[in-house]
Amino acid sequence: MKIKLENISRVFQEIKAVDNLNIEIKDGSLLSILGPSGCGKSTTLSLISGLDHPTDGDIYFDNVNVSDVLAEDRNIGMVFQDYALYPHMSAQDNIAFPLKMKGMKKRDRLIEVQKISKLLHINDLLKRKPGKLSGGQQQRVAIARALVKEPDLLLLDEPLSNLDARLRIKLRDDIKSLQKKLNITTIFVTHDQEEAMSISDKILLLNKGKLVQYGSPMDLYLAPNNIFTGKFLGNPPMNLAKANKIHNEIFFDDSDIKLNSDNYKINCPDIKLFKSDEKANLTIGIRPEDLYIDSNGPIKSNIKSIQTLGKEAYIKFDLGNESWICSSNWNRELKVGDTISFQAKLIHIFFENLDKYNEINGA
Ligand code: ATP
Repeated sequence: MKIKLENISRVFQEIKAVDNLNIEIKDGSLLSILGPSGCGKSTTLSLISGLDHPTDGDIYFDNVNVSDVLAEDRNIGMVFQDYALYPHMSAQDNIAFPLKMKGMKKRDRLIEVQKISKLLHINDLLKRKPGKLSGGQQQRVAIARALVKEPDLLLLDEPLSNLDARLRIKLRDDIKSLQKKLNITTIFVTHDQEEAMSISDKILLLNKGKLVQYGSPMDLYLAPNNIFTGKFLGNPPMNLAKANKIHNEIFFDDSDIKLNSDNYKINCPDIKLFKSDEKANLTIGIRPEDLYIDSNGPIKSNIKSIQTLGKEAYIKFDLGNESWICSSNWNRELKVGDTISFQAKLIHIFFENLDKYNEINGA
């Protein structure tokens, strides 16, 4: 099912939880709604589910306006962070519950439960009550319960947050392959950028209720069109510096670093504007993995610390007021205090003032 949100807003007293959202979600795709705490992810999901209603705007399911359709009539499956299973019922009865509500006969219910349980690898656990299941198993039961009635849309609100790191990775891979197998349009809420990157066809990045950027994970990662996207995706986060440009030279404001823009691959939301002769109030972004050690490199500083992580190391250094990181192969000859030069592979240019950005969003 195709979903369209048209000028959707949700205001609580004076808080704009969702602020004029316009997006289309392709049939059979997996969308992640990503953003920091309080950005409006859960509110957006509630509006799509029909559990809450927009103050303004309309929601369409396959071109039908469902704004006035009740949640129970939208044929949606929902999964929450806390599983929300009935503790006194077996896994089997939990999964069968929506079918019972629909009036399906017991024998048919059992067939459907068996089918979905196999897909989720829980067919051996059906007799157990939730208290006798691990967190990951309980979440599989909750997903099975959401899918058993063959919904047109699956909504998942931070479904993996209560699980440990390894289990999260396993279950997110399983959710993705199940979603593709069933070809069900799915919306997945998360605040974890890595989770969103790994699972989604598209990411909707929100901040303070507003759409910041909407596109494929690689679009957002390789071609962020603003500082917020550049910083929110990627770990360690993108290195940033204030700069200005004259002809083809980029001058960093708080250090004596100068880059010739002709020598670099550049991502910029408006490259024509960037190429216009002079430009002040720029922010330059370079990802830690796009920096590499090169004795002729133009970015020179002293190593402040080295954090070794096994296959790679984070080399930290200061550029003016900003703390930068180069993510590099571990080299045991490098020492704290060494003066070292870096070269860059890809440079992001934002037409935003970094001080103003930090003032509004926090450094
Ligand atoms: P989190 O990741 O912390 O769950 P979120 O991105 O899901 O956050 P929402 O829960 O959608 O954010 O909340 C968005 C904003 O709306 C927040 O400022 C929140 O305090 C506010 N808000 C949400 N629900 C209500 C409500 N029922 N009444 C008043 N304000 C609300």
